[in-house]
Amino acid sequence: MWLQLQNKLPTSDRLASWGMDINQQCKLCQNGLETRDHMFVCCEFTIAIWRKLMAWIKWTDYTLDAWDTHLKWIIEKARGNNLTAQLFRLMYAECSHAVWIERNHRIFEDVEILNTLQKR
Ligand SMILES: [Zn+2]
Repeated sequence: MWLQLQNKLPTSDRLASWGMDINQQCKLCQNGLETRDHMFVCCEFTIAIWRKLMAWIKWTDYTLDAWDTHLKWIIEKARGNNLTAQLFRLMYAECSHAVWIERNHRIFEDVEILNTLQKR
């Protein structure tokens, strides 16, 4: 999460900025450039996970429109040592990790483990 928050994850946009010739399309939704902001805030794949998580814990005030406002929301919700804040920190870390691991599965193993965009 530290790498995510500092925008230090080796996302495609960062790898390309270092001179690597790679496909920068998001591997999770195939509908945008793979940047930290896209992958963790704007990506349809991640938004689907957040919608399910927020419905599960019955929160309606989540922010998924831009990284800066999303970060402010994370900090606000994660602040403190009450049970809600502790659970939110765990949930946020697990969600971010699941998104990153799924991205890596799709890039390095060419497999989809999670598919949040399935039509039902
Ligand atoms: Zn995406």
